[in-house]
Order: sequence, then C-alpha cells, then structure tokens
Amino acid sequence: MFESLSDRLGGVFEKLRGRGALGEADVRTAMREVRVALLEADVALPVAKDFIARVTERAIGAEVTKSVTPGQQVVKIVSDELTTMLGGEQADLELAVTPPAVIMMVGLQGSGKTTTTAKIARRLKEKERKKVMMASLDVNRPAAQEQLRVLGEQVDVATLPIIEGQQPVDIAKRALQAAKLQGFDVLMLDTAGRLHVDQPLMSEMQAIGEIAAPAETLLVVDALTGQDAVNVASSFTEQVPLTGVVLTRMDGDARGGAALSMRAVTGRPIKFIGTGEKIDALEAFDPERVSGRILGMGDVVSLVEKAAEVVEAEEAEKIAKKFAKGQFDMNDLKQQLLQMQKMGGMGALMGMMPGMGKMKAQAEAAGADDSMLSRMIAIVNSMTPKERDKPQLLNAKRKIRIANGSGTTVQDVNKLLKMHKEMSTAMKKIKKMGGIKGMMKMLG
Ligand code: GDP
Repeated sequence: MFESLSDRLGGVFEKLRGRGALGEADVRTAMREVRVALLEADVALPVAKDFIARVTERAIGAEVTKSVTPGQQVVKIVSDELTTMLGGEQADLELAVTPPAVIMMVGLQGSGKTTTTAKIARRLKEKERKKVMMASLDVNRPAAQEQLRVLGEQVDVATLPIIEGQQPVDIAKRALQAAKLQGFDVLMLDTAGRLHVDQPLMSEMQAIGEIAAPAETLLVVDALTGQDAVNVASSFTEQVPLTGVVLTRMDGDARGGAALSMRAVTGRPIKFIGTGEKIDALEAFDPERVSGRILGMGDVVSLVEKAAEVVEAEEAEKIAKKFAKGQFDMNDLKQQLLQMQKMGGMGALMGMMPGMGKMKAQAEAAGADDSMLSRMIAIVNSMTPKERDKPQLLNAKRKIRIANGSGTTVQDVNKLLKMHKEMSTAMKKIKKMGGIKGMMKMLG
C-alpha cells in the first residue's frame, strides 16, 4: 500500500532533513517534487494542487521551533496536511439508533461488495459483540444470494432465508421485520451491483433506502481502479446519501490514488479498507496512521510535536512569572490570545469542554466568535509599544485611531482594555495574598 509514494516522498525529505536553513526557493523545489510524486500516485490533479498550495503556504510562513531543523518542520507540516487530505479524524460506523441499525451496502459488480458485507458483519460480531443479520437483495446475479449465505455460515452470522423470485424491495421489508422480531442489533443489506452506474440501479437504491432508513450507506469501490473509483463514488454521492466508503483491494494497490483523493473529491470518509481475500482482511481507516505509514517518519513528527510543547511551556512560564510580579502588559495579553487561537479558537476550546455546548451558543449569540479573537489581536497590534506597556496612556483620540487601524470600534477597544484591567487587578490581589503559593495555603 502506498509503497511508490512513500519511496518518492522519502527521497524528497531525505534531502531536506539535514539542511540548516530552508529558503523559499528550497521549499518550492521540494514541493514540485512532492507534486510529481502525488500525480504519479494517481492523486486527482485539483487535490494535488490544493495540497501543495497549503503545504507551501504553511512551510514558508512557518516559525521554526527551537531544537528542530527546518526540514523536520516541513515533514511535520506535510504529515498534518496529508492526514487532513485523508479525512482528518477516523470515521467510525454510527449505529446508535433504535435496533436494528441498518447498514446498506452499495457498489458496482465485482467491487468486493458481498465479501465486504461479510467482513464487516464478522467484525461487528467479534469486536463489538453485535447480533448481526445479513440479507442479499441481489436478484440480478445468479447465485448472489447463495454466496452471501455461504459466507454467513463461514463467519457464523445469520442470513435471511432465501425465497426464490422475491423482489429487492420486498426482501428488504421481510429482512427488516425478521431483524426486528428476532432482536438483531444490526441488519446488513447487500444490494445488487451493476456493471456501470445507471438509472435503474440508482432508483432501486433509493427505493430500498426509503424503506430501510439506513444508519449507514456504505459504497464499496475497488482501489485498483484508481481515479475511476473516485468517479464512481462521485456519481453515487449525487444520487444516494452515502455515509462512507470502503476501498477494497488495497493489498494490491501500490499507488494509493483512490484513497488519497476520495475524501477531498467526494466529501465522504473512507471508513474501512479491504486488505485481502480472507474474511478477516478488513481494517478501519485511520487517516493519521495511514499518513504516518506513507511518510514513514513518525520519529520526526513526534520530535517536532514535543519541541513545540516545550516552547509553549516556556512561554507559559514566562507569563506566569510576570503575573506573579503584577506586570502583565498588552503584549502578554496578545500572547495569550494567540495561544487560544492556535488551540482552535474559542469555539474549539468550548467544544472540547463537556457541557459547554449551551454556553458556546450563548457566547456566539453575543458575538463572541472566533473573529473576536482576531479582532482583539488586531487591536493590540495597532497600539504603539509604549501603549502596550502602559495601556492607561490611551486617550479618546488614540482609541479612535486604534479602532480605525484595526478595523474595530472604540467599544471593542474599551472592552479589551477592561479585560486587561480586570486581569491585572486579579493578579495584584493574588500578589497581596502572597502569590499563587500563598493563595494555595489560604485555601488549605
Ligand atoms: P461483488 O460482486 O461486489 O459482490 O464482489 P465479491 O464480493 O464477489 O468479490 C469479488 C472478488 O474480489 C472476490 O474474489 C473477492 O475475494 C475479492 N476481494 C474482495 N475484497 C478484496 C480485497 O480487499 N483484497 C483482495 N485481494 N481481494 C478482494
């Protein structure tokens, strides 16, 4: 999987890693090579272009953290962007509905749909202790229903008894009823494949979807078909509400173009990959792990992460010392704001804290969104060094200037000054109580 891309990128970064300094020209040369490597891996052109643009922008603007080389920093940026390109977070199956949760499997003939249905059923049974039933709705291909029955026996998963001559929509109804009555957690519907994407197929999918209200609709596509796999996925996405993609035959795919472009082109996450003919050859698709596998530079990535943590800790300590002395100026406030922004903004910070959903909505209603952080930072930037040191120097005229200079209002400027004042007062109180340590003592 991804061997050729991995080799090519390895070569590019080997050249970058040892360099003491990296100019813009070096970054651009390296990115040209990365771009060729991506295109050779059969990544869709717009996806490759977008990727290169994002990495270049970040790499040229990047501050290099102490104790890593610029080349190492670039590896980290590429690794981050590769993870994003592959979909970011791992996307699990969402089956938290009133049972039976229906998983509808769709795809072209020969994509590996029936095999994958059995693989997922087995995985749900073994890993999550789910009671699973499978039903084949494929009345076009002779012996398709029989194939699923045999696979069911092999993995010890129940299949809906076959009634000759019954039509797909009726089979789906019968399967739902049986799964409900017999207390199954999950019902997997293996729909009929076709040679090409065609209208009768789409209509059938839609009709079944209406009856079964699937929690997941997974498209199975063959990774070996490269960009065709992505095109098939795009066509399906337009007609059927897909929740995810399974890429089969990743074991034979050295290029990886389908996996790399799928998310960006279709907007749908890859949930699993098939890695062999055996019934247990199925893996959850974890973008971070895959990106690590492609770059093969996990050591460099974690080094850069650790170095960044150290620098942040040093910054925080410096500010804490100033806090303790009661000297906290606008520059320090700006540092704090930048830090918040880096952590994903107010929305992300609040989103991370349990129970903050409601507060987040209130804050947003009051205009406290992420643009507020940027506005506050812009205000500090518009102040002179003297004013940052002693904000009490600001008179009405200067406040208007600063508001104009930062694209904000005098009210915004006043709000920020008030916030700084409140923080300083709080700090002085802490100092009176004998600093942080004294306060801790008082609290027992
Ligand atoms: P369907 O027509 O889409 O239902 O396809 P099948 O499930 O019958 O699979 C077609 C062939 O592909 C079978 O021989 C499978 O064993 C094979 N196959 C399915 N998934 C994979 C995979 O991930 N890797 C490999 N190497 N073969 C696979």
